[in-house]
Amino acid sequence: MIPFLDLKTQYQSIKEEVDPAVIQIMESTQFVLGAEVKAFEEEFAAYTGADFGVAVNSGTSALHLALLAAGVGPGDEVITVPFTFVATAAAICYIGAKPVFVDVDDQSYTMDVTQIEAAITDKTKAILPVHIYGQAADMDPIMEIAKKHGLIVVEDAAQAHGAHYKGRPIGSIGDLGCFSFYPGKNLGAYGEGGIVVTNNPDYAQKIRILRDWGQERKYHHELLGYNYRMDGFQGAVLRVKLRHLEDWTEGRRANAAYYDELLTGYGIQPPPVIPERRHVYHIYAIRTKQRERLQEALQKQEIHTGIHYPIPVHLQQGYLHLGYKAGDFPCSEMVANEVLSLPMFAELTREQIEIVAKAVNDNFHD
Ligand SMILES: *Cc1c(COP(=O)(O)O)cnc(C)c1O
Repeated sequence: MIPFLDLKTQYQSIKEEVDPAVIQIMESTQFVLGAEVKAFEEEFAAYTGADFGVAVNSGTSALHLALLAAGVGPGDEVITVPFTFVATAAAICYIGAKPVFVDVDDQSYTMDVTQIEAAITDKTKAILPVHIYGQAADMDPIMEIAKKHGLIVVEDAAQAHGAHYKGRPIGSIGDLGCFSFYPGKNLGAYGEGGIVVTNNPDYAQKIRILRDWGQERKYHHELLGYNYRMDGFQGAVLRVKLRHLEDWTEGRRANAAYYDELLTGYGIQPPPVIPERRHVYHIYAIRTKQRERLQEALQKQEIHTGIHYPIPVHLQQGYLHLGYKAGDFPCSEMVANEVLSLPMFAELTREQIEIVAKAVNDNFHD
């Protein structure tokens, strides 16, 4: 059996570091926020090249608070993509703002920057690109358009810890960057977690207040706040894991390169490699017109795969009120129909990659 993701092997490899870190939280009883979370915020912000990091209890909360801090409000429009995990659009809706979709391009599957300007109206407040699968969106044109129109840029970096764009770490290129530490993400907590990074001290301060009941001083609630604080356990675990992240990322990249080399079957499209973007392969998705047949064949050989994501957000039941319909975003819809995510994690062995690649290729001889 080849799993899609193997968190147990990873845990065994860091058990000796992570177990004492967890026990230390029980001994200090700093169960919510506390010194470990604070240290993690500083270390993770530095890792992304940002001045500030504010840890929260999920990537969704990170997006929600980043948009609030940026001043997005009811009736405002936020330009984003439909080819993403649903949380991107949900966070915009939580505020009473409207997600305005533009399509993705068929190479990076990130925001098609040539379509942004046509989507801008006098209600547009922000652009929210998604670094999907661990591939950086095309940030230079996005920042240029935002500057020209006075818009804020919030990066959804939930899948892209450590990804680079033209040599710069993503997350700190826009005004605010949002990461998730859901266990399956490239940097995963042992529970839920997230962070917002920014170079803007006012945004950081506002998010700090919002995540903790809108209070700066205990029981003085200046704002309508939330209980979005990070657990002490997660801060302690994430500090340990952050020290390994670069090694794990290099492991994923080497595994992806080996897949690229081996996947030569007719009609299979490995993920495109784009110059000057460091892809961190949260997801290694191939494209094929015969996805269902391939997924079934792999399942028979006990090779577990996934589909990220089968239905773009504009066609999801809960989002039909936005008024979009099938055919509005042809690239997102085509990609959603064709992608298949192969097993991908740092500890995947060369032998496992060979087995998966052979199984895929065998399904595609003419
Ligand atoms: C995982 C994810 C989120 C949400 O993060 P959670 O920690 O699960 O709330 C947001 N956007 C994208 C693209 C994601 O993959």
